[in-house]
Amino acid sequence: MATSGIPRQELAKQRGWEVEPSRSSDRKLYSEVVTNKIFRKKFKLTVKSNEQQPPDTIKALLKNIINPTEIKVGINTYKSLKEGRIIETNSIEELEVLENDINAKCEGKLETNAHKLRNPRLVIINIPEEITTGNLENTMLAQNLDVSLKQGNTAAKFCYETRKNTRNLVIEVSAQTRKTLLDRRVKLGWQICKIEDYVVATRCYKCSRYNHRARDCRGRKHAPSVQADTSSRNVQQTLRNTNALTA
Ligand SMILES: [Zn+2]
Repeated sequence: MATSGIPRQELAKQRGWEVEPSRSSDRKLYSEVVTNKIFRKKFKLTVKSNEQQPPDTIKALLKNIINPTEIKVGINTYKSLKEGRIIETNSIEELEVLENDINAKCEGKLETNAHKLRNPRLVIINIPEEITTGNLENTMLAQNLDVSLKQGNTAAKFCYETRKNTRNLVIEVSAQTRKTLLDRRVKLGWQICKIEDYVVATRCYKCSRYNHRARDCRGRKHAPSVQADTSSRNVQQTLRNTNALTA
């Protein structure tokens, strides 16, 4: 939807937005959000009670028994879950120290579960019609001998259609394969397709900020920034693809 020709205030009136004074300095652009997302890994630990205790009891128990300063672990997030707590640390090492400490001191009472890190995802841009998740790997292997790929290096996840009616395909790879493939072009059928990082940023349709949904929103209703809005058809959607927005 083209919005660039309409003055911002007029547009806001049409759509029922409440216009606030511009605070552009603390409003992030889509590109900034997704760039940070690529490089920020999350190291999370779920803690549940073996005795069906509520999250607040687990919180009190952990506070009493575990001292993050003593074990030199930085806590990024400490949140309540439906049946427990979730703790996020800075590194895999800190996560292991914390998990071991909880297991040693709260044995039998609490159960810990470190989240596995998901492999990186890449997106292959503008794939030919005949390519599917089923035949992608064999096609890549057959036509790209210059890229040192082996069977099993890439796992095709899903295809999706872009706003320009082209198709992209998302693959999951190891960190090593990501390095090999990132920003390369691969030959598929009669086409050469670019490969980029696949990142998804959630956008709130109430306040237009990133990384949370409207149901968790603590902000005020706000028009999306003009730069971000020109590239999104509908701010209620989760924006899916950096390429579609920058193309
Ligand atoms: Zn919000």
